[in-house]
Amino acid sequence: MPQQYDAIIIGSGVNSLVCAVHLSAKGWRVGVFEQAATPGGAVKTLELTEPGFRHDWAAMNLSLFAGSGFFKEHGDDLVARGLEFAPAAKCFASVFEDGRWFGVSTGPGETRARIAAFSEADAEAWDRLCGGFGEKAEYVFALLGNPMQMHRQGRLLAKALYRKGFAWTADLGRLLLSSPRAFLSETFESDHVRATLAAWGMHLDFAPDMAGGAVFPYLESMANQHFGMVIGKGGADTVTRALVSKIEAAGGEVHCGRRVARIVRDGGKATGIGFEDGETASASRAVIANLAPGGLMDLLGDDSGDAGFDGKMRNFAHAPGTMMIHLAMDGLPDWSAGEELKQFAYVHVAPSLDQMARTYQQAKAGLLPDEPVMVVGQPTAIDPSRAPDGKHVLWIQVRMVPGEISGDAAGQIEGRDWAEIKEAYADRALDLIERHAPGLKAKIRARTVVSPLDLQADNPNLVGGDQIAGSHHLSQNFLFRPAFGHATGKTPVDGLHLTGASVWPGAGTGAGSGYMLAQKLGGK
Ligand SMILES: Cc1cc2nc3c(=O)[nH]c(=O)nc-3n(C[C@H](O)[C@H](O)[C@H](O)COP(=O)(O)OP(=O)(O)OC[C@H]3O[C@@H](n4cnc5c(N)ncnc54)[C@H](O)[C@@H]3O)c2cc1C
Repeated sequence: MPQQYDAIIIGSGVNSLVCAVHLSAKGWRVGVFEQAATPGGAVKTLELTEPGFRHDWAAMNLSLFAGSGFFKEHGDDLVARGLEFAPAAKCFASVFEDGRWFGVSTGPGETRARIAAFSEADAEAWDRLCGGFGEKAEYVFALLGNPMQMHRQGRLLAKALYRKGFAWTADLGRLLLSSPRAFLSETFESDHVRATLAAWGMHLDFAPDMAGGAVFPYLESMANQHFGMVIGKGGADTVTRALVSKIEAAGGEVHCGRRVARIVRDGGKATGIGFEDGETASASRAVIANLAPGGLMDLLGDDSGDAGFDGKMRNFAHAPGTMMIHLAMDGLPDWSAGEELKQFAYVHVAPSLDQMARTYQQAKAGLLPDEPVMVVGQPTAIDPSRAPDGKHVLWIQVRMVPGEISGDAAGQIEGRDWAEIKEAYADRALDLIERHAPGLKAKIRARTVVSPLDLQADNPNLVGGDQIAGSHHLSQNFLFRPAFGHATGKTPVDGLHLTGASVWPGAGTGAGSGYMLAQKLGGK
């Protein structure tokens, strides 16, 4: 293995691979070092239950990647290397205790008609949101796609003020600061519509009452309505395989099973990395760490040379965890609320704003929620190639569970150790789905439960199973992700840069931080 690179990237998450592709295209010799056996971090697909059943280990929805600036620039070549998406027109839905359901899909008038069945006033509100989406999206996507630097974001603000006026800009600012409940309650009167959209906040750590969370229900519902959703054909790893192929074709390298133990410095400059076995590799231009702030500090021996930075990194806050349940199935769930639900990519079991708020608070307090919030992903409804003929996989995210358990809100599970209780907690989750889809459990051929600590063991960036690698609350977002002064990935160590979900613009497969860093270092 050659030990000399222009850039070394620690970890092979999607931000790392995107960064490596862009830098390689600019002529840099890049080495990526990954501790796990498989590249991709959260974007990998494994046969977790039975042979022939392909499960997305973590990320399933690739819409952010498909819509990213990076994909616009490099997507054609990735497609030539085998990247393939499977589009979902029926994107997401929720089921309710009263036996009804609501969902968003791209078919003309479909979503509107479903909303009108709850409230005509809400259907009109939906029309207004859809009508204004193009204008708002231009600015929100520019905000998310811009490096978090005052001069750039300031120019964007000035453009909005000049073109759209003060009232429109203030209204957009208010949306960015609002909680999901504030936005949804003032926009819709139906509790069903409100809850269905609010579930998107729970994909991050925006429980209904968290300021700054409204934008996710807004963007996801509008983007799904207008563009649909995409997942990976055959599995999310279609992205990872194409990225690795492109890196290697440009002379770069991706090494798995290589845990980086330290960042090597010389005279205050990062010059390379060291492995557990004492081997080293050096980088002449950049060391790029795709690490959560705590992991970065570990590799710096807890001392970057700037005590202020070290304190901020050590104080970085993580969000509650996720538990994943992967099922090999003889058939899709028979949703009692409606047969059409079988065609949706995601079915949320998150029936009200209050239930989501309670679940979040229980998890924050260390309790196993009595009524978990769930995202039931049905990838084989969109892409049957992931399972043998007529068979299916289910990808179930149990959102908002504590990394460290202090008790059970339902008072039924005694244990405090995830390894000991994860199957019992998975039973609680599946019982709840069974209430909405009778016969579900009889269709399960095999299951693999991944606790929050299993997620962390696979990828140390997911502290306590925090799937977004750091809370997205306002105190840690925008200019403050991961901390003020470092939102572009800058560190106090010369030549050392931070990327990944902990850095602006944060979690998701859009790979914004990796792409922006690569453009900063290697040029556009
Ligand atoms: C369960 C789950 C479900 C999700 N679902 C979706 C979804 O459907 N859609 C979506 O858009 N987003 C989803 N996300 C979020 C999204 O997938 C992630 O935010 C994104 O993929 C993170 O990418 P990253 O570049 O930050 O790297 P990560 O995925 O965090 O990867 C970092 C890599 O670095 C490696 N590493 C860490 N320390 C070291 C070390 N010392 N030495 C070597 N290697 C190291 C890790 O092993 C890991 O492979 C999900 C996340 C999770 C966890």
